[in-house]
Amino acid sequence: MAEKKEIIPKKHPMPVQDPRERIRNFNEVALGYDEETAVAEAKRCLQCKKEPCRQGCPVEVDIPAFIRMVAERDFEGAIKKIKEKNALPAVCGRVCPQENQCEKYCTLGKKHEPVAIGRLERFCADWELARGVFPQEVAPPTGFKVAVVGSGPAGLTCAADLAKLGHKVTVFEALHVPGGVLMYGIPEFRLPKRVVQAEIDNLRNLGVEIVTNAVVGKFATVDELMEEEGYDAVFIGTGAGLPYFMNIPGENSCGVYSANEFLTRVNLMKAYLFPAWDTPIKVGRKVAVIGGGNVAMDAARTALRLGAEESWIVYRRTEKEMPARHEEVENAKEEGIKFAFLTNPVRILADEHGWVKGMECLRYELGEPDESGRRRPVPIPGSEFIMEVDTVVVAIGQAPNPLVPRTTRGLEIGKKGNIVADPATGATSKPGVFAGGDVVTGAATVILAMGAGRIAARSIHAYLMSKKA
Ligand SMILES: Cc1cc2nc3c(=O)[nH]c(=O)nc-3n(C[C@H](O)[C@H](O)[C@H](O)COP(=O)(O)OP(=O)(O)OC[C@H]3O[C@@H](n4cnc5c(N)ncnc54)[C@H](O)[C@@H]3O)c2cc1C
Ligand code: SF4
Repeated sequence: MAEKKEIIPKKHPMPVQDPRERIRNFNEVALGYDEETAVAEAKRCLQCKKEPCRQGCPVEVDIPAFIRMVAERDFEGAIKKIKEKNALPAVCGRVCPQENQCEKYCTLGKKHEPVAIGRLERFCADWELARGVFPQEVAPPTGFKVAVVGSGPAGLTCAADLAKLGHKVTVFEALHVPGGVLMYGIPEFRLPKRVVQAEIDNLRNLGVEIVTNAVVGKFATVDELMEEEGYDAVFIGTGAGLPYFMNIPGENSCGVYSANEFLTRVNLMKAYLFPAWDTPIKVGRKVAVIGGGNVAMDAARTALRLGAEESWIVYRRTEKEMPARHEEVENAKEEGIKFAFLTNPVRILADEHGWVKGMECLRYELGEPDESGRRRPVPIPGSEFIMEVDTVVVAIGQAPNPLVPRTTRGLEIGKKGNIVADPATGATSKPGVFAGGDVVTGAATVILAMGAGRIAARSIHAYLMSKKA
């Protein structure tokens, strides 16, 4: 009879920077497993025959196989196995909400803590990046040209898959650096930019050309790319970068930022290194971030690192309804972020020079569940109070970027400005044009965007091959 495997109930902890230290720098908070810890964690895996963890991974990584290789110390084999399916493992290992994906389905997780699949993926990817990157196989050229619009996780995944299949891929990116939210949104202390750039360089090695400072819809439309520039197919992955505002009085005061602007200044333009870098940022003593998602958490933690004495999350529901990842909320709490739940501003107050000096807020209570399934926040009449703050960051969500949908003929657009695409194929209403990621779903996650990029690449390949036949 086979020997019964000893169960280790808890994940091996990952070392982190001390909260007192890390609020004074932008270095990565989580420090990653070393080889011994990774091997020990990999040995917790039960190697289940039915592989339930795989069902939870939108890009279908062969999780048990790569974990087995880590347990056997075959780290090179492990990263190659991951990369068969995932073009950005160092990114995913850091920012995926594994608790709602692979780890949610892990057999061990039913009674104990699941295997730390995300930490092991990160370990393998970092192990490779520390040694340079192993070359991947590319099929012989097919002669087809594909344009990818947007270089976020959706566009990059689609580009990588198409390049591996032998197509000539050009990525057009509006900003001066590729990576999308990975570069301008998610802060350095959660996702170091050198890691993102290393993974993007890896795509260049597959032959993908990336053209930056190229706003599709301005220098050329999607129609022009296809009709005049000779692209045989187009993938649109332009994301959801248009911030929502609250539309309350005083919102145009100085010191009110959208989270998008606030984080772009800090992450992409390195305003935290001003004046060595020339983009400035002004953060006061007391900062309020409105919202309860990952974006709000990132902005509040960034404000603290920029020297704010107090950084508040102001959220109209309770902690239970917050969409942010549990781990990020815990990290924020450790760092001293303060939370004002069941609270929402109705007016921003400014001084005689137009600078924010406070917010008039209302207190809320929870009513019946709404269409999202979460209990609806209901304002309590007469509960007005003033919160004294000198900086406000609005992080209540983003809509799809409108330029490409508006300038492409024959593209069906949804109610929220999203591009309508078949979730099973990524096909839009326009032949040869495919779309995926946040521009289709609205603001979602990195791995879902990557999954959509992969599905579209498969369909684009089939579409191109049928043209050849
Ligand atoms: C602050 C923040 C924190 C987040 N944290 C997490 C997290 O921890 N985990 C997680 O899974 N998800 C997180 N997300 C969500 C995740 O980043 C997005 O769901 C994901 O990046 C979407 O990928 P995408 O490729 O669809 O779009 P994006 O990443 O938005 O990329 C779109 C790209 O297209 C470019 N573009 C737009 N219009 C044009 C045009 N006309 N021409 C050329 N290029 C164009 C943009 O400049 C951008 O580079 C976070 C988002 C934000 C904003
Ligand atoms: S479900 Fe968990 S224990 Fe089972 S193979 Fe996947 S990671 Fe290992």
